[in-house]
Amino acid sequence: MYEYGMMNNMKSLSITFFRGARRVTGSNFLVEVKNGEKTTRILIDCGLTQGERFCESVNHEKFPYDPSSIDAIFFTHAHADHIGLFPKLVKEGFVGRAYATHPTRELVPIMLEDSVKLIGAEAKRCHYDPPYTFEDVDTAVKKLEPIEYKDVITVGEGVTATLNNAGHILGSATVFLDVFGTKLLFTGDLGRTPAVIVPDRDIVGGVDYLVTESVYGNRTHGSIEDSEKVLLDAVKNTISQKGTLLIPSFSLERTQILLAILDKAITDRVLPEVTVFMDSPLAAKVTEVYRNNPEFLREEVRHRLQSGDDPFQFGSLKVTTEQEESASINSAPMPKVIIAGAGMSHGGRIRRHEAHYLPMKSTTLLLVGYQVPGSLGRKLKDGAKSVNIDGAAVPVRAQVLSTDGFSAHADRDDLMSFAEKIAPKRVMVVLGDTEAASFLAQRISGFLNIPVDVPSEGEIISLELITK
Ligand SMILES: [Zn+2]
Repeated sequence: MYEYGMMNNMKSLSITFFRGARRVTGSNFLVEVKNGEKTTRILIDCGLTQGERFCESVNHEKFPYDPSSIDAIFFTHAHADHIGLFPKLVKEGFVGRAYATHPTRELVPIMLEDSVKLIGAEAKRCHYDPPYTFEDVDTAVKKLEPIEYKDVITVGEGVTATLNNAGHILGSATVFLDVFGTKLLFTGDLGRTPAVIVPDRDIVGGVDYLVTESVYGNRTHGSIEDSEKVLLDAVKNTISQKGTLLIPSFSLERTQILLAILDKAITDRVLPEVTVFMDSPLAAKVTEVYRNNPEFLREEVRHRLQSGDDPFQFGSLKVTTEQEESASINSAPMPKVIIAGAGMSHGGRIRRHEAHYLPMKSTTLLLVGYQVPGSLGRKLKDGAKSVNIDGAAVPVRAQVLSTDGFSAHADRDDLMSFAEKIAPKRVMVVLGDTEAASFLAQRISGFLNIPVDVPSEGEIISLELITK
């Protein structure tokens, strides 16, 4: 009985790293706070695990915890690897509260409706039932409550949560938890500094435990200025060759960055008016959310928008959402620029344009994002002279360029400087492959002299509650 009484007064704190540990995607962490017999359970993100072996992926498995036992979930941002399993969580019994910033709340249905199609097709190929349907997306989205940065949300007795700007994409957030005075910060994905169209990430004070991403934990990006030059030079060359510039691009953030740079260059007369097709219904919907949330854009971009120069729109930009409009791009006179999804050419409309334009010498293909090994984009980046696109052999005579400065991710040096400024007592490195996570961990422990863990998936780390 005595021992039982002791247990009742005991408080404890732990994090279980279900997914997204030693892995870039699948973000899903569980914080458990025990106070006597009462346990408060908080999830950070519920993302899709993405990769080449989709049929074997955990997206089809049951959650390793009881969804009905979760009190609250906080979403860091609207990328599929952070939100993509939320409809499944709701379908399997989640009845707690779900929070995200206003832009994330607006982007989630758009992104989930896209992922329901993608994973539905993948599931079919593997002879699985899809993890969730459009109806499940609807039900899940209705549960999502929008909150402001800095709002203090009470999750349980002695436990509050606050979102702060992560500077990664529109509405992205870090999650700050206060557990009986002990402070934890989950970065989600962090933006680079300076960011291009969203404000730079917030530095949060007083953090005891930092759970940091490490996607680019062992790599550095080129500067945004260099990437801008590569883009503008590619457009100028395309104009002088009367050719086509193809840009496979992610629909969320990357495409809006490209549009804002092209808009500014045309307004400043650095570029002549050139026909640009944004051939993506998804990017069109996402761009509308950017336009509707000026207060979440960085000051100069917001100022442009509010003074009447829409940074995502210019006279020679044609947004093609319908199939027929997309098909008519082929007959539009050159020079022209075509921005289309998907970013790694693994799906979407870009493949049709690549099949048509890659055989032409006057074409330039500009890769502006990470290309996973095995993807069509990666093969092109590696200099393939012929590629297979939907069953047809396509000779590649186009010039292929690539640049990494438009990344929305902090690189090795950004991540180090963030950890240094936060100055926690202990760091857990997640959301990166083992190599990237371990590299960042070594630097944090070596240079900043902070104890670091690189948890594996399923690992539970118990954290000491710090009395101040
Ligand atoms: Zn992200």
